[in-house]
Amino acid sequence: MQENIIIAAKQTPAQVSLSWQQQLSQAIRDPNALCKRLGLNSQWLPGASAGHALFDICVPEAYLARIEPNNPADPLLLQVLPVSDETLTPKGYVLDPLEEAEHRPAKGLIHKYAGRVLLIASPNCAINCRYCFRRHFPYSDNAPSRAQWQEALDYIRNDASIHEAILSGGDPLAASDRQLAWLVAQLESIPHLKRLRIHTRLPVVIPDRVDDALLSWLAATRLQKVVVLHINHANEIDQPVVDACARLKHAGVTLLNQSVLLKGVNDNVPTLATLSERLFEAGVLPYYLHVFDPVQGAAHFDVPDEDAQALVKQLLDHLPGFLMPRLVREIPGKASKTPL
Ligand SMILES: *Cc1c(COP(=O)(O)O)cnc(C)c1O
Ligand code: SF4
Repeated sequence: MQENIIIAAKQTPAQVSLSWQQQLSQAIRDPNALCKRLGLNSQWLPGASAGHALFDICVPEAYLARIEPNNPADPLLLQVLPVSDETLTPKGYVLDPLEEAEHRPAKGLIHKYAGRVLLIASPNCAINCRYCFRRHFPYSDNAPSRAQWQEALDYIRNDASIHEAILSGGDPLAASDRQLAWLVAQLESIPHLKRLRIHTRLPVVIPDRVDDALLSWLAATRLQKVVVLHINHANEIDQPVVDACARLKHAGVTLLNQSVLLKGVNDNVPTLATLSERLFEAGVLPYYLHVFDPVQGAAHFDVPDEDAQALVKQLLDHLPGFLMPRLVREIPGKASKTPL
């Protein structure tokens, strides 16, 4: 493992030929290696180690390549570098901010909103975002086997009001294509299901994830397909990401994006305007801008609601309406995301 980290740290763009699984297995998962790779001086190491002890570091090379070395304020670095503030426990920041545990009619299935259900298709992610509201999620309890999926599939089959299945996680595309093709085949055999939606950050983190194996089951399904990417900053959209989006579009996918409003990363008008513009250039429409969920360990990313609302109001002066993301908060117990 240690050896892998060192090899990954020294790799040049020649590693494009690695499969996405190899790229993921060579991701940096060590505070020392991360600081060294990005030329950060040793003052960042204690914080990185303390945060890493609470929620592991994980950053693949393809994402690291978009981070400016030696810049502690880089907006992509801030999303992946643990800091000592993660050890703080301010009031109101909790382990399960969305209280999802209450809406699980079957293993791996969350049914909170009318007409759509969310399936935890993979407990894993290709990157560990420091602000993740699932950073304390009991993942090991939520990765059903094929036999265990039957209960969730029966639940969907028995409720004709459900028209959309949303693959979520973790990151659903961290699952193998064989597993995903199987699950989607089960879903499309349910007559009242119309849409397959996939919420994923993998095409952004490791664009090579959008490979022929993925595209073959995706292009083949009778279900209408929506992929909701998760991009917070225009710097995350490099040419390999643009190319991955083009491959998804070619397979008949509607591409949307959701962002999280994060202090220091994207909480200003020019950054949000540039993000929307760059998304559209890549064929992606902005969907949601989430205010941050109050998860313990990530309070330092919080932008107050009033500031978020003021930002979005100013953003209206800079963008056409169709490039405006909807500012929303997820409030436990509500029948939808709540517009702010
Ligand atoms: C966010 C979410 C959805 C999807 O909501 P949309 O408003 O349709 O994007 C569905 N189920 C759960 C549990 C969710 O958290
Ligand atoms: S990709 Fe999404 S689920 Fe995974 S760590 Fe990042 S925010 Fe969390």
